[in-house]
Amino acid sequence: MELPAVPRRPSQTKIVATVGPATHGRDKIEALVKAGVDVFRLNMAHGSFEEHDAQVHWIREIEQDLKTPLGILVDLGGPKIRLGELKNGSLECQPGMQVTFVMEEPPQQPTELPVSCPEVISALKEGDRVVLADGTVTLRVIGKSENRATCLVTQPGLLRSRQGINLPGVKLPLPAITEADREALAWALQKDIDFVGLSFVRSPDDVRQLRQLMGEVQNPPQIVAKIEKPEALDYLDEILDLADAVMVARGDLGVEIDIAEVAIVQKRILAAARRHRKPAIVATQMLESMQRSRIPTRAEVSDVTNAILDGADACMLSGETAIGSYPEESVRMMHRIALATESVSHPPVRFQAANAFPANPAEITEASVWHAGLIAQEVGAKMLIILTRSGQTALTIAKHRFLVPTVGVSESRQVLRRMCLYWGIIPLMEAPLSDSQALLRFATEWGKREGLVQSGDRVVFVYGTGLVSSAHNTVSVFVAD
Ligand code: PEP
Repeated sequence: MELPAVPRRPSQTKIVATVGPATHGRDKIEALVKAGVDVFRLNMAHGSFEEHDAQVHWIREIEQDLKTPLGILVDLGGPKIRLGELKNGSLECQPGMQVTFVMEEPPQQPTELPVSCPEVISALKEGDRVVLADGTVTLRVIGKSENRATCLVTQPGLLRSRQGINLPGVKLPLPAITEADREALAWALQKDIDFVGLSFVRSPDDVRQLRQLMGEVQNPPQIVAKIEKPEALDYLDEILDLADAVMVARGDLGVEIDIAEVAIVQKRILAAARRHRKPAIVATQMLESMQRSRIPTRAEVSDVTNAILDGADACMLSGETAIGSYPEESVRMMHRIALATESVSHPPVRFQAANAFPANPAEITEASVWHAGLIAQEVGAKMLIILTRSGQTALTIAKHRFLVPTVGVSESRQVLRRMCLYWGIIPLMEAPLSDSQALLRFATEWGKREGLVQSGDRVVFVYGTGLVSSAHNTVSVFVAD
């Protein structure tokens, strides 16, 4: 039987990498997998469907060749407001200068800023703050007419055509899912993808709406709610109840709320994700300087470490892998930081689940996996094997952060790919599931090849719900042949 060829010691923290011009090519994507990527993110705000088609095709080919499950996250752009084309392509905003938002394109003057949606100018009032270009430039509205809003530059900087506009605190009547998102979703649902990112979530209804849109599809992708609006923080528990995973989208979050609060809010979102037993991704500027440098700053290394210690299941690379000069080096660096952090992680703590678990089955899973982890520690097991139908057993143990290498097996390839976001779970492809002895042999052979297990070592085996008749969860200890 051919064994899966996981190419390196995986980190327990999962790595999400955004694909872009810097990594558009089968060889480049394969190099990223070998460097440690678990999930690829296709950012639908950029690139064409043809490019994304090719990326999905390559990722699935590589998954099969390397026998390593790979997740694909299609990130919908959401209702992002952008500048139109500036008269001169860019504008150096000087302190105290006046600029004017206008509806018509092309603009007549270099200081006129065309906006992509008319709702913006209608919603602005005198005194409102407008933030552009990821927080680089800030304006204050000082005059308003039906089709124009005049603003004073309060924080100077360079503006370029098509850059983003944020209106912190201004409620805009924009749809949660735009026409472009619907088109991207229709494309994604025809592809073999695993996660859909919902940008600018403001309320639980936004998540419901996306789920409804995918309603008819068999085995729909999992929903990753991107937390980047202050309104979402007011409904964090409700959003986490409905979504399958969450992303701390620090790019827009750092503009929509006071940038000084980003790290504290990150900790709050990660704690909530842990309570709700949902995977959490920390995103944006994690190794930003590696877009142009082979080594990150000390602060960036510290940021990745702290995100892992805060409870992130996955760390994400954006520009570093999409448009940077050192995509592979960035992944290798993130992988190294994860390994270094995990080698000194704290002992597992039994985190209380949120009230989201009133039902008995989840309570039984909670208790079983917690004690399976303790048994593994106490008997010095070298590996845990989790056999799971829905992935829930693997996700639950992931949240307790046992350091014993943990392998996830499932009959569903989709479930294996979901595990690509679960901290510390190594999804194993093509494991024989009909016979537990054969499965055990397969998994321990794999463990031996990876240098994790030797003959005579103990291995703890957890069968998830519904896989053994009349047993909810079963825990056994085996000795490897
Ligand atoms: C973010 O804002 O941090 C983010 C991940 O979203 P996007 O890259 O789509 O702006």
